[in-house]
Amino acid sequence: MKAGRTPLVVLALLAALTSLVVIASCGGAVRRATAADFPPGSTMARIRERGVLTVGIKFDHPLFGFKDPAGGRITGFDAEMARLVAKDITGSERDVRFIETMPRNREQFIEQGTVDLVLATYSITPERAARVGFSDPYYYAGQDILVRAGDRAIRNVTDLADRKVCTATGSTSAERLRARAPGAEAVIVNTYSECVHALVSGRIDAISTDDTILLGLMSLRPGSVRLVGKPFGREPYGIGVRRGDTVFRDYLNGLINRYLHDGQWDRAFRDTIGAAGADPEQAKPSR
Ligand code: GLU
Repeated sequence: MKAGRTPLVVLALLAALTSLVVIASCGGAVRRATAADFPPGSTMARIRERGVLTVGIKFDHPLFGFKDPAGGRITGFDAEMARLVAKDITGSERDVRFIETMPRNREQFIEQGTVDLVLATYSITPERAARVGFSDPYYYAGQDILVRAGDRAIRNVTDLADRKVCTATGSTSAERLRARAPGAEAVIVNTYSECVHALVSGRIDAISTDDTILLGLMSLRPGSVRLVGKPFGREPYGIGVRRGDTVFRDYLNGLINRYLHDGQWDRAFRDTIGAAGADPEQAKPSR
């Protein structure tokens, strides 16, 4: 009798296991988007067909856009945003190709189609909007000042008069520095990380740009530099896209809005720049 019942038990077990596997694969697996999920001919459909999203990003700003010297992984808040967008388009956050951008070449990269979008501490300005399209703001930074840890003389932007202040070409930081500290001697470089050694060695007196970038640079030199903490300009960051691509821009606005409300923005913030002390009240857009 026992021998006759065994195959039935085995069959029943197999049937149960099979249905479990079927349930798991239907409910658990991420359904990959197809190009048909997007309007025909749209940038989203083209990226989906290509299978990879190309993103212009900073490589030298820890916690925002940073290429890990050890493993080469790109980390930071902008990288997190890029991975969320890629996941929505292709189904996998791994389908991103990061390309380094600097303040001076972001518009050019978008115009020439080198990248699908720019996520690179990129402030929305009317001048830039004449050349590229912008999403709604996904982050608010503030222009601030980084000094040597022992420097107590520089307490705000007016104290920059007659000081050597390093910032980057093609940035709003350089423009605002000229406007707000006309007496400062501006030292203009390609990217802010070039300023750090000059500051620590005493060749310049301060670095001025967004607090997001300064907090990241500070994390590389703990104890030797200090954030003044007196922001003198608000910087709304947008995702840069090709000018006139309103379908892509509107799609990105929908995603940003979703991330602001579903906890993804908060998670990305907490895992990156929030850990360095950025204030979510200042940084998070409300809408
Ligand atoms: N967010 C400002 C800008 O877009 C300054 C930082 C930067 O250059 O990336 O110009």
